[in-house]
Amino acid sequence: MDVERTTVTPAQDALGRRLHDLRISVTDKCNFRCPYCMPADRFHENYEFLKRSELLSFEEIVRIARAFAGLGVAKLRITGGEPLLRKGLADLVGMLRSIDGIEDVALTTNGVLLPEYAQMHANAGLQRITISLDSLDEEVFQVMSGGRGNVREVLDGIVAAEDAGLTPIKINAVIRRGVNDHTAIGLANHFYGSGHIVRFIEYMDVGNCNEWRKDEVVSSRELRDAIHAVHPLTPLDQNYAGEVAMRYAYEDGGGEVGFISSVTAPFCGGCTRARLSADGHVFTCLFASQGTGLRDAMRDGASDIELRDTIAGIWTQRTDRYSEERAGMTEAARTNHKVEMYHIGG
Ligand code: SAM
Ligand code: SF4
Ligand code: SF4
Repeated sequence: MDVERTTVTPAQDALGRRLHDLRISVTDKCNFRCPYCMPADRFHENYEFLKRSELLSFEEIVRIARAFAGLGVAKLRITGGEPLLRKGLADLVGMLRSIDGIEDVALTTNGVLLPEYAQMHANAGLQRITISLDSLDEEVFQVMSGGRGNVREVLDGIVAAEDAGLTPIKINAVIRRGVNDHTAIGLANHFYGSGHIVRFIEYMDVGNCNEWRKDEVVSSRELRDAIHAVHPLTPLDQNYAGEVAMRYAYEDGGGEVGFISSVTAPFCGGCTRARLSADGHVFTCLFASQGTGLRDAMRDGASDIELRDTIAGIWTQRTDRYSEERAGMTEAARTNHKVEMYHIGG
């Protein structure tokens, strides 16, 4: 029997956090090699990415998303790897938009393929877009992206998203001390008055291969103070409960800027997000070491009700609060095997 279109049974985890959003990774491949995510020495030309048969089909993704919607999920974000590398992605956008209960479908991308795809995705019903851009300085950008792509291509992608009406655009920038921190103000300045919202992300210890060190993290507070000295800032209220970015308005009307302080001010208490990997595993935390596979059960004939019950079971047992626990962890516990970000999509 199919899940009733109108039945929504909100799921709450063991710490009382409800299930509200789902990030869907549609590919583990990427055309960049950002060292903080997919370092080139590990993700080399012979690296074995998932085979086509291992990836969830669009129909399988939609079945899972529908089951999540039945448990209270209203927001979906498509990510990767680089999601625009997945062939026919706009079709998936349209399919996800038509799920009962889904109010918002967004995409996170490195932007370089947007000149080809932005309009197609807007036509398919994509509502919001986040484009990652870590620096406007070409040399620094090359270091941050692992020598793939270039600033011009990303800026062209931003223009394409604007032209397609996917505005306001969020621009995500991961900041690493000693690598791109000296160009952060340049990013803020560039998008000041543009209507787009730059969000500075604290460099996180996701996965096991980026050799994260705490001294490379630039705190949101430090960055905010530096920007405030140039363009005075005033705090804004959250747009919705559980919003991860702290929002600020430029006092003189230049727009908005955000800070995502996953390391220095963790927000696990309000974390309502589940993640689905491209091969059909559900993860309840960005820092989880294990997910629960749904693909094989689906291919073995699991019903929609069984799917929904499995997901409800996963969520109700959830106790993750890694970022809040990080400070008290030993190095060994911290570097215990974690899933890689490109696998579950940030
Ligand atoms: N390829 C797309 C992109 O870069 O936008 C989507 C996937 S990427 C994994 C999603 C986001 O995760 C990007 O904004 C990226 O900067 C961020 N990210 C990846 N590794 C990170 C890390 N170690 N710390 C903080 N953010 C990270
Ligand atoms: Fe690719 Fe995005 Fe990871 Fe960079 S952050 S390697 S663009 S998935
Ligand atoms: Fe959510 Fe895990 Fe991040 Fe905490 S560490 S905010 S539980 S994803």
